[in-house]
Amino acid sequence: MKFLEYEYKRPNLEELKKDFLLAIDKFQQGKTLEIQNENLKKIVKLRNDFLTQSEIAGIRYSIDTRDTFYEAEQDFFDQAMPEYEGLVSTFYKALIKSPFKEDLKKQWGELLFNIAQQQIKTYSDEVLEDLKTENKLASQYTKLLSSAKIPFRGETHTIPQMRPFMMDEDREIRQIAADLVAEFFEANESKFDEIYDKMVKTRHEIAIKLGYENFVDLAYDRLGRTDYNSSQVKVYREAIKSYVVAIAEELRVKQSKRLGLEELKYYDLVISFRTGNARPKGSPEEILEQGKAMYSELSPETTEFFNFMLEHELMDLLSKEGKSPGGYCTFINNYKAPFIFSNFNGTADDIDVLTHEAGHAFQVYMSKNYELPEYIWPTFEACEIHSMSMEFLTHPWMKNFFGEDTEKYYFNHVNESFTFLPYGVTVDEFQHFVYENPKASPEERKEAWRNCERKYMPSTDYTGNEFLDKGTYWFRQGHIFKDPFYYIDYTLAQICAFQFWKKSEEDSDLAWKDYLALCKKGGSDSFLNLVSEANLNSPFEPETIKEVASFVKKHLDEIDDMKL
Ligand code: ZN
Repeated sequence: MKFLEYEYKRPNLEELKKDFLLAIDKFQQGKTLEIQNENLKKIVKLRNDFLTQSEIAGIRYSIDTRDTFYEAEQDFFDQAMPEYEGLVSTFYKALIKSPFKEDLKKQWGELLFNIAQQQIKTYSDEVLEDLKTENKLASQYTKLLSSAKIPFRGETHTIPQMRPFMMDEDREIRQIAADLVAEFFEANESKFDEIYDKMVKTRHEIAIKLGYENFVDLAYDRLGRTDYNSSQVKVYREAIKSYVVAIAEELRVKQSKRLGLEELKYYDLVISFRTGNARPKGSPEEILEQGKAMYSELSPETTEFFNFMLEHELMDLLSKEGKSPGGYCTFINNYKAPFIFSNFNGTADDIDVLTHEAGHAFQVYMSKNYELPEYIWPTFEACEIHSMSMEFLTHPWMKNFFGEDTEKYYFNHVNESFTFLPYGVTVDEFQHFVYENPKASPEERKEAWRNCERKYMPSTDYTGNEFLDKGTYWFRQGHIFKDPFYYIDYTLAQICAFQFWKKSEEDSDLAWKDYLALCKKGGSDSFLNLVSEANLNSPFEPETIKEVASFVKKHLDEIDDMKL
């Protein structure tokens, strides 16, 4: 069955509640392990049915945000999701009180119980209405962002459609494009401020009601971080400051030399070479063909996976009007089907979709047979290891996409992955400020953002654009609005992906073996356990950051980038 044929039917919430609570009741009354298991499985089925419909609606809505049918369905799930989560939370409470807990742990794994324990803290009926508000605000943000109709060269463009112009070789075009995008945010500044302010206050309120000091620890719990906390993340950010920032700044200087510019402005950062960045060759169809060939050469597992994606039409890749910006990969439980969503734009980003998003999809395809929805995906930092490492493990095939631009692509991929680290911790430190100071005004938040930029990316130069210079770049960073504190994850995973890259340069078979084993583990273990089982060093050890930074620097120093 193809994705378009997947049946969508709005779940009956009242019925779901009734069946769910009945199964929980039977679970609690269950006098034997068998009865408990039977009802646990019933609950798993109810959850998978609900999640399947929610995913189908979410995907179809993001493919066309003007579609009023799926818009209404999305609204329905905005309202229903907190109630569903309430039911899961009720199940978790029953689970951890089970008299057969030890037997259940043997069968389903200790992690399920850790997750249950943690998630219970993040929910009570008292915050149900606030959770609905939070979801509603997230949808408002998405809608506002995809409402952008930026006039340029006689046509209107969405934000992702502006990206090729922002990466134009011609500096003047880059500047105009970057300023036009900034103008959209400036014209809607009060709307973005208002949405975010309401989000911060709502989240703080939820945290207080649940007995947390502020939203920070609640966010960590929500993200399922069971084996590290915000003080370790602080140490990690400091390690980035100590070992990465100076090298990243050197790379910026090299970049300006390559571009023949005296200084890099905000509109120059995304471009690496005077002759333009590496561009993929061929039409989207040809790119997809190359993707298929790549995965069939990489391994038997990736061959099967990519054919499955193609056969069932589980990828929506082209940019279209009304389509939500960005890219993602998700999973449709009952069909055991990953789905890849993106906005192809003719830049190297398109190839990243085929490596990064496909890395996610491959992992979830490898772990699709876990019965528990909890074990399909790991926590986000671990998920990003699969995707970001796939970007490196597919390096040998990049020549098929980039032709004579391949060297440029390699250099830039490593360069950008590395200079991303300071940006990632900027996003993280900013959010710690925001939620540790929930009463800060929108203006104080902007100042805090700018200060974080100065700390981790000191050469950022917004001269000529006062709006960006006052600290508003983050308006476009969706995670800050919709997925608080989910961003540092990309940097933690990047540190792991660099380790996979190093390993693949030394022994590609061994690297693939470790990678495949990691993918198969899915979400059945916690982040740091997965890291160590994949034979990687923990990113929370400053020594790891130091080693990764020096490996990357050495590699980049060996390339004569002025020739590219
Ligand atoms: Zn990702």
